[in-house]
Amino acid sequence: MARYLESKCKLCRREGEKLFLKGDKCFTDKCAIERRNYPPGQHGQKKGRISDYGVQLREKQKIRRIYGLLEKQFRIVYKKADTQRGVTGDNLLQLLESRLDNVVYLMGFGSSRAESRQIVRHNSILVNGKRVNIPSYILTPGDVIEVDSKCKEQLRIKSSLQTADDRGFPSWIEVDPKNMKGTYKNKPDRADLPSTINESLVVELYSK
Ligand code: SF4
Repeated sequence: MARYLESKCKLCRREGEKLFLKGDKCFTDKCAIERRNYPPGQHGQKKGRISDYGVQLREKQKIRRIYGLLEKQFRIVYKKADTQRGVTGDNLLQLLESRLDNVVYLMGFGSSRAESRQIVRHNSILVNGKRVNIPSYILTPGDVIEVDSKCKEQLRIKSSLQTADDRGFPSWIEVDPKNMKGTYKNKPDRADLPSTINESLVVELYSK
């Protein structure tokens, strides 16, 4: 499968804000946004007017990069959101947030979404007692996510869980750090998600 292999920090610099793609480093002063908050490349520091289309495109790219999806995967999620009842933008964010790799990250079993995706792929996660190794698996409220007993001693999982526990968990998931287990209680409300995301721009972009 195709993957993005270039510097993750460049993606944040391109969007002009922290997308939290590199785990603990994102919370230190080594973060590239703290040091060089301008787009990468020779013309990065030039300022120019950005069109409405450009604003919509950048927002779509930003959301896609936060969740680590390629364009084709993101389109598929969008199409699904568009066919569901309700507001397309809200549906889109709920689908992205309900992905197994995202919830594994929010529960603190991985230090970033990319690492969480790898943990899922490496058969380290059980959903309702059954092994699931598909990062895009969509969880339903009430699902119980657990680190497999064979992986509970892994230092990287222990360390990211400790950090996540110190920072606190979102209200729509419940985590039992001692047993490395958590419940996806309900779909997040829009108010539970970052206000820096403007999903309506993605809807405008794809509705053209
Ligand atoms: Fe983005 Fe994290 Fe790199 Fe900072 S350290 S630029 S938040 S990926």
